[in-house]
Amino acid sequence: MSNASETIQKRSSYRLPTHRGERIRLAPHQMSPDPKDKDAVRRWLEERPRPWAIDLFCGAGGLSLGLEEEGFSVVAAADADQVATETHAANIHGLTWTGDLSDPSEFIRQLDDWGIEEVDLLAGGPPCQPFSTAGMSKIGDLVRRGDRSPRDERADLWRSFFAIVDRLNPRAMLFENVPNFAQAQGGALLIALLDELKGRGYGAHVEVLEAWRYRVPQHRSRLFVIGIAEEGNFEWPKPIKGRPTVGQVIGDLPVVEAGVRDEVQGYKGPPESVLGRLLRKGLTHPESQLIRDHVTRSVRPDDAEIYKLLKPGGTYMDVPEHLRRYRSDTFSDKYLRLSFEDLSRTITAHIAKDGYWYIHPREDRTLSIREAARIQTFPDRFRFAGQPSNRYRQIGNAVPPLLASAIASAVKDALEDRIPVAGTTGRQPKSVGHLRDNLSRWFGQSKRDFPWRRLRLSPWQILLLEMCLHRTKAEQVARVADKLLSLGETPDSFLSNSRDLAPVLSSLGLHWRSVNLASAAEFVRDRLAGEVPDNWQELTAIPGVGDYIASAVLCFAFGRPSVLMDTNTVRIARRLLGSSDQPNWQLRLALHKLAGPRGADVEWNQALLDLGALVCTARAPKCGECPIRAYCKTGTEMS
Ligand code: SF4
Repeated sequence: MSNASETIQKRSSYRLPTHRGERIRLAPHQMSPDPKDKDAVRRWLEERPRPWAIDLFCGAGGLSLGLEEEGFSVVAAADADQVATETHAANIHGLTWTGDLSDPSEFIRQLDDWGIEEVDLLAGGPPCQPFSTAGMSKIGDLVRRGDRSPRDERADLWRSFFAIVDRLNPRAMLFENVPNFAQAQGGALLIALLDELKGRGYGAHVEVLEAWRYRVPQHRSRLFVIGIAEEGNFEWPKPIKGRPTVGQVIGDLPVVEAGVRDEVQGYKGPPESVLGRLLRKGLTHPESQLIRDHVTRSVRPDDAEIYKLLKPGGTYMDVPEHLRRYRSDTFSDKYLRLSFEDLSRTITAHIAKDGYWYIHPREDRTLSIREAARIQTFPDRFRFAGQPSNRYRQIGNAVPPLLASAIASAVKDALEDRIPVAGTTGRQPKSVGHLRDNLSRWFGQSKRDFPWRRLRLSPWQILLLEMCLHRTKAEQVARVADKLLSLGETPDSFLSNSRDLAPVLSSLGLHWRSVNLASAAEFVRDRLAGEVPDNWQELTAIPGVGDYIASAVLCFAFGRPSVLMDTNTVRIARRLLGSSDQPNWQLRLALHKLAGPRGADVEWNQALLDLGALVCTARAPKCGECPIRAYCKTGTEMS
């Protein structure tokens, strides 16, 4: 056998069994009107109780279901995935539209056609792949290899919200995404979204919620942004006591063999937990006797051998060496057997590809479609259209209905003005303006003098300096700034003179950085036509450029307000708020808010950097000399 045919045979023996099965087709909800019959739609709308909601990027309908459960009428929903909207239309009592929301004008025309002129809540979660950790690292690799553009149109889909907000003037807005949305483009996307809300008079509230605190038995965190019109009050839902488990939601389902394709089976007995009872609610005879979608994947013989050896909680690292067929360093968590007593790993759309992260706690197979739906807290009456892989994907992409219910209930309280206490990032305390004034005055008298603050520099020179300044004392770089700047105003001239670079950086003890700078210069020259880009996506595609450097270049080279997150500014933010454990995205929002209406511009950023270097130092802050002490929790507590 030739080497080539050996390779082909080896690869094909690694192939996973495809998960083909019956294509489930579902009829629309029997109470929904025919969307093409305008008179029927008008009569139906007249009877729909308030509050009304529209669900954008609705997918299968996890968010819509939570809204419905809390008394919202989800009068319309939209998504580009035709099979997902089939699922939505079958389960949710409302109108469903299939189409591309990147240009929302067509959907707006459809709303006009239906006679929907205003709603109480506009809700939805644009695709999260551009912001998820896995998605961002895959996109980054492709961009660096030159195989795709750094721009991802999906990252701008959230803007469709505002075209529809402007058309419908909802009293509230609910936006859902992965927590990484808060870090995307150096935090600029979240800040832009909040500014859009504030500009329209909405009070904006941001939080990352863990689904398990709301009865969803899995590790799943989601970012929510809530906008309440006229800066109305809002309170996040209170977490439920106790920790749900996988056993509580799937323990009552019948045993099935791997590869079973029986779409309809019988329950093995009554539900064994409160959650189990909740998930069976709403089924009437004879459906109450039948379980659907309890179909499973086939299991390869070598995987079956591995599954038998894995105990609950066991991972790839527990697989004996002779059975491992993936690299242990990069695939250390390739397999996971779930535990009845614990939370599940996040159910994501990846479950459509393989189920290795979701091996059943007791049976030697991966989760069935119904088990995945149960862990997402979809009730058994909720059916999914499409082939098995498509059904898994819809489930993985959904907002868990019980988490959606918790949020929906909180939004409803806000709409009905039942919130006793205010708490909003949309309102600025009066003192914010004074804080900035005090800091500006101090900066005018105390600012440090560096060559780059005096000279007019090209974007390339600013990028070069920021790469040198990152994690290096400014005074150190200042000593060699003239030499660095003399290497040229463009990456081309810099590369021509780069033999002079190593001695300059060696004098700083940073010889190794010359390799990074040369790679960055080559990337800008060869891939970006010699121009330093003025957008975050392309800047961060440059080797050696991360969040801080990209934000600094946007601010100092292009005059774009950008919050800088480095050790100095993060330290100041933590001390101002008196908080040691707030995540960076919350600190970034706090700094954005404190910068006031002018935003984090050049003066603000330079003033904060100088304050961190001269007054609010790491070891011994000089609070007695601090211009913003009156606004600082740490400083006032120390007085
Ligand atoms: S008061 Fe003290 S802790 Fe607060 S910002 Fe000023 S120097 Fe830092």
